[in-house]
This record gives sequence, C-alpha cells and structure tokens, in this order.
Amino acid sequence: MSMKRLFQNIKGLWSLLVGLKVTGGELIKPWLTVHYPRQEVENLSSYRGHIELVPATDDPLTPRCIMCWKCVEICPSRCISLRMHATGEAGVAAADDPGLLLAPEVKSPYSAHLAPPPDKIERILDSYRLNYSLCSLCGLCVQICPVDAIRFSRNAYLVGTTRQSFELDLLARLKSQAASARGAAPTQPQGA
Ligand code: SF4
Ligand code: SF4
Repeated sequence: MSMKRLFQNIKGLWSLLVGLKVTGGELIKPWLTVHYPRQEVENLSSYRGHIELVPATDDPLTPRCIMCWKCVEICPSRCISLRMHATGEAGVAAADDPGLLLAPEVKSPYSAHLAPPPDKIERILDSYRLNYSLCSLCGLCVQICPVDAIRFSRNAYLVGTTRQSFELDLLARLKSQAASARGAAPTQPQGA
C-alpha cells in the first residue's frame, strides 16, 4: 500500500470517528421532541395557533365580540368572515351600516354616525369563520380588536387532508368548548 493510500484511509477513519462522536453525543442528550400522537407537548403557553373567540366574562357560550368588523377589515389575507343580525328599535335602521352596530364607546372608521344606545339595539353574532389555510398569523386582528375578543389558540394539533378542514367555524368552536367545559356533549364536532 502506498503512503498516499494509507494517509487517505487514516483520514477517512478519523472522519468516521468524528461523525460517531457527534452522533453519540446527540444520542445521550435529553429529547427536545415528543413522539406524537403517543405523546403531546405539555407547555404550549407561548404557542401561537389559529385565532379563537374569547367568551364573555359572565357567559362562556356568548362571544365577547361586539361585531365592529375591524378584524375583518384589517386582515391582509381576507380570511375572516362574520355574519350578524341586530334586534331592537335601532336594529333594523342599522342593518345596512355596520358602524352603527358598534358599542357606543367604540369609535368606528367605517361610519360617520354614532352607535345607538345599548338599550335600543342588540347585536347577535350568527357566524364567525376563519379560513386558516390563508392566515399568516400576523396578529393584526388580535391587536386591533377593541374589546380583546380574539386571541391566539393553543391548538397545535390541527390536521386535515383537505382545504375545507381548515375553514374553521370559531363561533361553533366556542360553544362546543363551553359545552365540554360544563361536562355536556359538544354541540358540534370540530376539527379545531
Ligand atoms: S392573524 Fe393576520 S392573517 Fe391571520 S386572521 Fe388575523 S389578521 Fe388575518
Ligand atoms: S375586532 Fe374584535 S370585536 Fe370587532 S368584529 Fe373582530 S373580534 Fe369582534
């Protein structure tokens, strides 16, 4: 064997030993990942999942949302949609002007009129949907909400095989979670 060949073999062996040392070192380190789905991550406090509705303080079945449309307007991906209706004396007149449906203390850039007093109108949220496949998790909707009615969920285990799986009905989700918390069966199966 020539000296050149011998030197190449020693160099290759040394490279192998260095690689095995790195592998061995990683092998005995504590695991940073979990074997999902057999295990789940316990600490998700800093996880930013899809947005979710926050319930009213005195009623977990009712969202805190005052239906001001600010989150819808600011979303750069246009992935939030909501539907509502209004009841009461001023509800019919305000039906065509979302700004009129604001809580009186909230200023709206979308209406030149003042909102009616609370006893004259009641806003009912019919639907609040998120197309999560479009969401960039930018957080603008959470920041602009004047009453902290939306927040990031801790839902790290959302999976689906179709785009429709990521079209989330957040109002139904809120009600389902409230029902589950009360020990009742969920009102609607949720992918979220
Ligand atoms: S986090 Fe950003 S992209 Fe996602 S819904 Fe909110 S505003 Fe839209
Ligand atoms: S910004 Fe907040 S209060 Fe206004 S519609 Fe969105 S979630 Fe509701």
